[in-house]
Amino acid sequence: MAQEVWPLPRAAYVHVPFCRHRCGYCNFSVVADRDDLIERYLCAVDLELESLHRPVVDTLFVGGGTPTHFDAGQLRRFLCMLQQRFRFSNDCEWSMEANPEDVTREKVALLHEHGVNRVSLGVQSFNVDKLQVLERTHSPDNAINAVQMVADVIGNVSIDLIFAAPGETLSDWRTDLAVASELPLKHISTYALTFEKGTSFWSRRARGDLSSASESCEVEMYQAARQGLSDAGFQHYEISSFAREGSRCQHNLNYWKGLGWHAVGPGAARFVDGKREVNHRSTTTYLRRMESAESPTAERETITREQYARERAAFGVRMVKGIDLDVLKSETGVSIADICRAAITQSVDEGLVLQQSPSWIKLTERGILFADTVAARLLG
Ligand code: SF4
Repeated sequence: MAQEVWPLPRAAYVHVPFCRHRCGYCNFSVVADRDDLIERYLCAVDLELESLHRPVVDTLFVGGGTPTHFDAGQLRRFLCMLQQRFRFSNDCEWSMEANPEDVTREKVALLHEHGVNRVSLGVQSFNVDKLQVLERTHSPDNAINAVQMVADVIGNVSIDLIFAAPGETLSDWRTDLAVASELPLKHISTYALTFEKGTSFWSRRARGDLSSASESCEVEMYQAARQGLSDAGFQHYEISSFAREGSRCQHNLNYWKGLGWHAVGPGAARFVDGKREVNHRSTTTYLRRMESAESPTAERETITREQYARERAAFGVRMVKGIDLDVLKSETGVSIADICRAAITQSVDEGLVLQQSPSWIKLTERGILFADTVAARLLG
């Protein structure tokens, strides 16, 4: 297999599973109200990081969970550990997720001091009722102040916003977008609320206690985001992502380009040397395994060249500018134009995909609403 098929990963993800409370819609690998595990986590994750042998990274993304849930002392120790365990390239993008209620001047200064240069805040909404429905523990003022505080020191602030929450109207959502547009933000990610099996929202919906928004309402809200954020000067560059000029998330671009990444921590998924591996989702199992010198890996899959090319096409097509199938072929050795000919033709015929040239495909305006359908067809 050609060397270029499995590029050396230059990106890393570190998962921090701690949260003060599990939000009703959350399906991430999280432990709520288990701060007693933090010390064990810090030792375990350091061991796993050590096994990477100080890779050079262009992007490091620390997510969760809530990485800023640590107290100031633990946060300092964690940041020092990351500084020691990676070699950062010049201009490395180091992102850290944070929740508004944890953002203090002291913690922001610590992040800045240790090299974090991008903060992604889990704002979700500026509407007090919607925040309550989503079981978030911050207030709209908390969120606004946190954005301001981080922007003053670190500059590069991204926020996540959820739409189509139970009871939310189009006008509520437009207000969220308008508030966000006035803040010093470089990046916004917007997601429709999903009801995942195993979450309390899933059971509450089954009981009739919560209802999901209609599909037409969800589409209207998504279109409102595209319009509102582009009017405010953000470029829509990926299905869920909007950025100011020069502020696209380099770490996520690396995922979408399928370039490989290291990942450590409970539930973390990595793609290294043609293998996809996922760590145990349970924090306590992860800790036990690391403490007894066992592998934290729960699942392992070797990716074929065809799978790799299909996945790169499926993720790549989420980029608003589309993908060049000739480049994909030269980098993977597989011709998506040939093996996905029927899928591409069907998507073009249905008005979901535009074939701009024999090798360049991109989603149409309508196709952007059906990106998952197109991606599923490319995956075969
Ligand atoms: S704060 Fe985020 S990671 Fe933590 S429980 Fe809520 S949604 Fe999940």
